Amino acid sequence: MNDPILRISDLHISFHVRGGEVQAVRGVNLDVKRGESVAIVGESGSGKSVTAQSILRLIPTPPGEYKQGTIEFMGQDLLAKSEKEMEAIRGHEIGMIFQDPMTSLNPTLTVGRQISEVLIKHQKLTKSQATARAAELLTLVGIPNAADRVRQYPHQFSGGMRQRVMIAIALACNPALLIADEPTTALDVTIQAQIMKLMKELQEKTGTSIILITHDLGIVAEMCDRVVVMYAGKVVETGTKQEIFRNPQHPYTRGLLRSLPRLDHKKDEPLVPIFGTPPDMSAPPKGCAFCARCDEAMRICVDNDPVNYTISETQTARCWLHDPASKEGASA
Ligand code: SF4
Repeated sequence: MNDPILRISDLHISFHVRGGEVQAVRGVNLDVKRGESVAIVGESGSGKSVTAQSILRLIPTPPGEYKQGTIEFMGQDLLAKSEKEMEAIRGHEIGMIFQDPMTSLNPTLTVGRQISEVLIKHQKLTKSQATARAAELLTLVGIPNAADRVRQYPHQFSGGMRQRVMIAIALACNPALLIADEPTTALDVTIQAQIMKLMKELQEKTGTSIILITHDLGIVAEMCDRVVVMYAGKVVETGTKQEIFRNPQHPYTRGLLRSLPRLDHKKDEPLVPIFGTPPDMSAPPKGCAFCARCDEAMRICVDNDPVNYTISETQTARCWLHDPASKEGASA
């Protein structure tokens, strides 16, 4: 049996701002198994990045607040850890790749030094061992002349190469879990494809689990085993990649699939945007948060937050359309 390496249960995260409390994450449940790639998709503000950052406890508190729930990683409760204990986990057991490598890399240190520091800190390598391993890692992520390039600074690398360096740093300690938050958004399409291919290959080699935050369904189709769809701070649908692409069960997922380009997109099939905007999370609606934008909304949806319905062993959808009563027209 493949037990989850990560289990998030009933996670609630708010931000206290001048206008009040923004409820960014409202009861998220999420499991990731060993060696599995899970995509979290949703519009901006859906809570996907906040959820991902919370795993590494990167949410500043204040203004953020972990209000409720647990994040269990390999049997450890991450929300109960001290900052010092989290520092030992970040970059060692859990790696993270951010959207913009230029803001994550230190411009004043050579690339080799930045990789070596992680190895010296977490793997207790000597300086010369770490430098040699840094060059090996650069080669592994497809950077030519690695022995020379370890001595260069981030500005001497192209955008795609810098992202490869970030992947090398994230993978330096063979993390059990890699979190990639929009890792290729700033790159052009060809480089995006190369980086995603590289991540997939490295995952197959190392068995690392991946959480990929993205709005690019083409990348999801290429990379991931399972998809988690978030809307207004909640998981509204989960399923295998096949279930989500071929048989979506939540109107928001269907809207996303119609509105975003995919690899199998047919030229004559127009993209249809989801009308309206997500709700104000400082005053989330009482009923279904998607109600004002949903063309299948029923009376029950206005005042009652839908429960999570099991569609298959691997698929769930948080929508009243799956309530047996709605099929009988009782709630319309
Ligand atoms: Fe639409 Fe109602 Fe389902 Fe919400 S619960 S997605 S409003 S049908």
